[in-house]
Amino acid sequence: MILRGRRVVTGGALTAAAIHIENGVITAVRPFEEAGAPVIDEVILPGLVDTHVHINEPGRTHWEGFETATRAAAAGGVTTLIEMPLNSIPATTTVAAYRRKLEAAEGKLSVDTGFWGGVVPGNTKDLEGLWREGVFGFKCFLAPSGVDEFEHVAEADLREAMPVLARLGAPLLVHAELPALLTSPAGATYADWLASRPPKAECAAIALMVRLARETGARVHIVHLSAAESLSLVEGSPISVETCPHYLAFAPDDIPDGATEFKCAPPIRGGLRGLVSRIGMVVSDHSPSPPEMKCGDFRSAWGGIASLELGLPVMATLYDSPVDLARWMAEAPASLAGLERKGRIAPGYDADLVLFDPEARWTVGPESLHQRHKHTPYLGRKLRGRVCATYLRGEKIYDDGDSSGADFRRSRGRVLKR
Ligand SMILES: [Zn+2]
Repeated sequence: MILRGRRVVTGGALTAAAIHIENGVITAVRPFEEAGAPVIDEVILPGLVDTHVHINEPGRTHWEGFETATRAAAAGGVTTLIEMPLNSIPATTTVAAYRRKLEAAEGKLSVDTGFWGGVVPGNTKDLEGLWREGVFGFKCFLAPSGVDEFEHVAEADLREAMPVLARLGAPLLVHAELPALLTSPAGATYADWLASRPPKAECAAIALMVRLARETGARVHIVHLSAAESLSLVEGSPISVETCPHYLAFAPDDIPDGATEFKCAPPIRGGLRGLVSRIGMVVSDHSPSPPEMKCGDFRSAWGGIASLELGLPVMATLYDSPVDLARWMAEAPASLAGLERKGRIAPGYDADLVLFDPEARWTVGPESLHQRHKHTPYLGRKLRGRVCATYLRGEKIYDDGDSSGADFRRSRGRVLKR
């Protein structure tokens, strides 16, 4: 099979090219003029890799689940995702729990899916087994995670776990806020929520992680950076960082009081939009919950934003270069997870591709969403850019032209192991 287009993101540029595919793998990227295949009008990007997704199955499948999440991913141009170890029951902190997760995922995946394990107090003995079974690395929280099954760690726990991770070569993903610098919100408004989780809590946590990374040699990655002032702590250090579309798309002034669909932790502070190329990686932190948990006020509502299928158009609305989008949303996350066949349009890589129309304008409505609950701060937003089709290992798994969704190829996704 040959797909050719005038605007293909390959080799760090937007260029005319013909992508040659055999058995689901890209065998060559040849000059556009050589091939006789029909011409694709849309921009062709590598399938996105989203390394920060909460699917919540087993145990909280009513929050999302493998079927709905991976269909949403396909519709959003995300062809690979790595699932977070918490919010499912059990949390992925033991080999037995990891096996439960693999069983729960079987037959339900529309896109390729792998898993992070968790570091929690007392599970250092489980880390090597999880790594050998196939998790891509580990996630921990320095502050309460929001669910009882996934306890946050203190410095002493990290001093036990990080030398083990350093020996294995496993990355440690860290939710970086120090609990001693967090307070209970003084009231019910967004301003109260924001004030309860100040930038200094993130800065202090990142400073601690830089120090521990240097001391132990473990590879540390900070998830969902929210505070502009913390970026200078990361630069020049051995640790890497990501942010999420909602930290770039919104600022506190955009958030009406009572609009709890914007609640997440750390909170949306604004000020990051011009820093994204220094951050270098953007993933969703898709963290849905049932609508009844997302109502109430900023003290009581669930903290999590659902946006798995909207990341690419949201980012394309903010930033013009498809080359940058591919670098931040495909290449960098693939590199974090060590996925050597994902995230680029190049020979030897899986033929995971997105056909994207960067000029299309549309408004997000509940009917256009494939996630289980149609709850997201992007509802009613006008976006620029639309996913027209998604290919996984050379096979079309999503086509925007088929509004019934019948073109989804369910169960085409595979479980990925390290
Ligand atoms: Zn998360």
